[in-house]
Amino acid sequence: MAKTPDDVLKMIQDEDVKIVDLKFIDLPGTWQHCSFATNQIDADAFAEGIPFDGSSIRGWKAINESDMLMVPDPSTAFIDPFFKETTLSLTCSIREPRTGEPYGRDPRTIAAKALEYLKGTGIADTAYFGPEAEFFIFDDVRFDQTQNAGYYYLDSVEGNWNTGRNEGPNLGYKPRNKEGYFPVAPTDSMQDIRTEMLLTMGSLGVPIEKHHHEVASGGQAELGVRFLSMVEAADALQIYKYVIKNVARKHGKVATFMPKPIFNDNGTGMHTHQSLWKDGQPLFAGDKYADLSEMALYYIGGLLKHAPAILAFSNPTTNSYKRLVPGFEAPVNLAYSQGNRSASIRIPLSGKSPKAKRLEFRCPDASSNAYIAFAAMLMAGLDGIKNKIDPGEPLDVDIYELSAEELAKVPSTPGSLSEALKALEEDHAFLTEGGVFSEELINVWIEYKLEKEVIPMSLRPHPYEFSLYFDV
Ligand code: GLU
Ligand code: MG
Ligand code: MG
Repeated sequence: MAKTPDDVLKMIQDEDVKIVDLKFIDLPGTWQHCSFATNQIDADAFAEGIPFDGSSIRGWKAINESDMLMVPDPSTAFIDPFFKETTLSLTCSIREPRTGEPYGRDPRTIAAKALEYLKGTGIADTAYFGPEAEFFIFDDVRFDQTQNAGYYYLDSVEGNWNTGRNEGPNLGYKPRNKEGYFPVAPTDSMQDIRTEMLLTMGSLGVPIEKHHHEVASGGQAELGVRFLSMVEAADALQIYKYVIKNVARKHGKVATFMPKPIFNDNGTGMHTHQSLWKDGQPLFAGDKYADLSEMALYYIGGLLKHAPAILAFSNPTTNSYKRLVPGFEAPVNLAYSQGNRSASIRIPLSGKSPKAKRLEFRCPDASSNAYIAFAAMLMAGLDGIKNKIDPGEPLDVDIYELSAEELAKVPSTPGSLSEALKALEEDHAFLTEGGVFSEELINVWIEYKLEKEVIPMSLRPHPYEFSLYFDV
């Protein structure tokens, strides 16, 4: 049962809470927070919200119209395990102070609207999402994020950025490149830290399933969490990242969800499993290809058609496109297949139960804002169902092995963030259906990404340019 405001107020008493930490999600997807004495949190705070200045939040209001309201959602309450004083955490949605309307640039509001839209279509009443966010655990590094935006030095042999790993004495048993999946300890030296991460998030209410080392050479990991309804899945992902980063910090390590931190080794994806349900019944199981329903195939058709635009949200960093290259289990082509990890949509083997039938969109990475990325995927899938978009034939071969001629027939994922943003500019009517995304939000996103990321990146000399050109 979801918690009510009364439950939370009781929890504050029962657990002797000292501080209430209100969190919300900024446009790029990072949790922001402000802490309150418990006397500030009453029934009104839940009903009317608490004012704050929205002008300094990335991608939000202009300074001349800065006031906003944060409205805590009682169902998101948990006791934050990382602080000395008992601290209760609540995730908020954002409202306009004058009208009380949901704020159109609040990611959580966009995701909630997408679900309302789904129900309104009558197609389904529930969208389940299961993100698999991978990450790296490195020894803590200090690097300058603003000036040179890089680590200390470039490995001139591999052309790799030195990742700042300072591993102390070499004790051997290092997993070789792409061989991290998954020899036991001592090759896997991250068992204890992953266990602590998993159990910590479990104690906060995230439905945990498993953890393991990932494919890349050292410290790449994935923790398994059960699928949830779309907004809950995005909420759980915020906790997932928060716990992973803070447990890592506690142990003098640093965790990163950056999609491609190491050249020439596997990158870090966030494969996203998806299925639609109605009246408690799964809608994606059927008698078509890979035991999918016709509806699931149309959903795939929508995802593939709109993928270049979706990637502007699901792969929204310049670094995202360094992951989407051949040879590292990341998808490079817009195709679907049963079992094929080089296709951007895979239909996992799910046993006999129709309830487990789902598709796995393999493009996304965890540099995305999950609320907006999930909403964009859902809207694309729904567009596919509504317009009966044919996904074409499945591609049951290893796409990395195809000849250039065969490959030319399969559309590719965008090659850069600029390309994805261009695709979004040209293809977004599927997102504005039912007012789920506003034109304003889409424009702000494109502008923000170009001005803050694409252009500044293009202006900076890259370490590899030194390797290539320093001696010209
Ligand atoms: N790390 C791979 C990626 O970038 C995925 C590996 C896996 O299949 O789990 O998508
Ligand atoms: Mg994985
Ligand atoms: Mg996967």
